[in-house]
Amino acid sequence: MCRSVRGFFVMADLPYTLIRSRRRSLELRVLADQRLEVRAPERASERDIRAFVESRRGWIERTLARMAERPAPLVLALEQGARHPLLGQPIQLAIRPGPRRAPELRQDQLHIQIPDAAPARVATVLDSWYREQARTHFNAEIDRQFPFFADRGHARPLLRIKRMKSRWGSLSSRGYINLNLALIQLPRSCLEYVVAHELCHLEHMDHGPGFHRLMDQRLPDWRARKALLNRLPLITHADDPS
Ligand SMILES: [Zn+2]
Repeated sequence: MCRSVRGFFVMADLPYTLIRSRRRSLELRVLADQRLEVRAPERASERDIRAFVESRRGWIERTLARMAERPAPLVLALEQGARHPLLGQPIQLAIRPGPRRAPELRQDQLHIQIPDAAPARVATVLDSWYREQARTHFNAEIDRQFPFFADRGHARPLLRIKRMKSRWGSLSSRGYINLNLALIQLPRSCLEYVVAHELCHLEHMDHGPGFHRLMDQRLPDWRARKALLNRLPLITHADDPS
């Protein structure tokens, strides 16, 4: 595990939180609440860290502008008849009281049977159902796109599903592909884009010209998909644990 030391530094008009740990490179994140976070190796000098943040100023401004454009989240009800999306398609909650049963999707209706249908209980059932769906659909999408990368000698990364506030996915050098659970609610074209993006990192760890050439080859309309992903509202409900 990493030891980490937290500190808070103010740099001109770009304040950021610094987290030091046993890592090799500097990383900058814009969090969902628009704060900046820098992750740095234990020994990185403050001067290098400041220079790094300053060098990413353009990217920070673009990212903040994009976040400001995203519409407010859609708040969905957790009651009989409410519609919730699965890969962009609406499904309707069919809730009835009774002994607990695994939820079942029939056509566009999700049948949920639980003893107590209070919204908080429905939220728990729905959350674990989405996780199950995410595991199936995300793995299927990775398998669909992976043969190209297998031919180039890469090992298939293992899926980890996470609730993430500021990222759609990431690829770790330890062999994991991390995908944001929220993708299971967005249109399939967004999932396809994020999986392509993360798998292309098997070949190129950065977002340089080589990475973009590979993206153009794998998914020629990736820019339109990325734009869609960034302008869709996120889904939440009153009992959302996050
Ligand atoms: Zn990337």
